Amino acid sequence: MRKETQPPILYIVIPCYNEEHVLPLTAPLFLDKLSQLAAKGRISADSRILFVNDGSKDRTWQIITELARKDPHYIGISQSRNRGHQNAVLAGLMEAKERCDITISIDCDGQDDINAMDAMVEEYRNGCEIVYGVRAKRDTDTLFKRSTAELFYKLLNWMGAEVVFNHADYRLLSARVLRELQNYREVNIFLRGMIPLVGFKSTSVYYDRSERIAGESHYPLRKMLALAFEGITSLSVKPLRLITLFGFLVALLGFAGILWAVVGYFMGKTVSGWASIVCIVCLMGGIQLLCLGVIGEYIGKIYLETKGRPRYIISERTYDAS
Ligand code: UDP
Ligand code: MG
Repeated sequence: MRKETQPPILYIVIPCYNEEHVLPLTAPLFLDKLSQLAAKGRISADSRILFVNDGSKDRTWQIITELARKDPHYIGISQSRNRGHQNAVLAGLMEAKERCDITISIDCDGQDDINAMDAMVEEYRNGCEIVYGVRAKRDTDTLFKRSTAELFYKLLNWMGAEVVFNHADYRLLSARVLRELQNYREVNIFLRGMIPLVGFKSTSVYYDRSERIAGESHYPLRKMLALAFEGITSLSVKPLRLITLFGFLVALLGFAGILWAVVGYFMGKTVSGWASIVCIVCLMGGIQLLCLGVIGEYIGKIYLETKGRPRYIISERTYDAS
């Protein structure tokens, strides 16, 4: 066990997927930050920058191994294939948890302000085990990205998945939190929703988000929608409850329609046309298919969870893990 007086060992965990244009620019910035913090005595000199190559198809892994050869503060692991951002971050955090006292996860594209790390480490030293990096404003994002992201958070919270507003995956976690997080064994992971569930003392640090240094976002609308859907269905069963409510309302409406038809019959009004009936049949068919789809999504999740497949597979390391 490390003594409280010693500065903590920090591992900066950075997922990288096809970032050959970005890594050479941002890697030195991370190293500068690490050295600064170590020079000020805020973190241990044994701190590291841990890159997680998420099955990149370009030169990313090569760049990481070159960096590791040049400076021992850079280390890297490689996933056996592309598993997505969340799994890459988890792989890095789990790799780091036995070797460090704190981790900070951050994207490698320079969008998140690395200067917020000072405040994060300070908050840890004040007793917080989780420090969320929260974007103060998003004016560098396009209006579209900003408004869809806002909708995303609102939808998530409304659906019962507790997430910190405007917080992505830039956060400090203590080794203690990581050890608890390890016991959350789900295969469908959404870290933003899982970490508040772990508990412990937490706080937020605010920063401005800037533009990507180079390369393109890997989160187009399609992936963002997939992440939102993943977030909701991994953390909440509210959609299933909404379906029940919805079904009840539609049934009530149908019942009122029948009453109305019977009354109409006795009042001598003949029912006109079949078009209206066809419309209603189609509408009902559509609603039923939608509901089956949502239920199917949950069943699919159960299926995946029961298989209990590994959440990440590390194929290579730049260092000896034993
Ligand atoms: N990323 C990853 N695996 C993926 C997609 C992205 O590890 O399948 C990494 C990527 O290299 C970056 C971070 O996740 O460091 C965030 O991705 P990106 O910047 O494309 O998303 P955005 O900031 O636009 O939401
Ligand atoms: Mg980005």
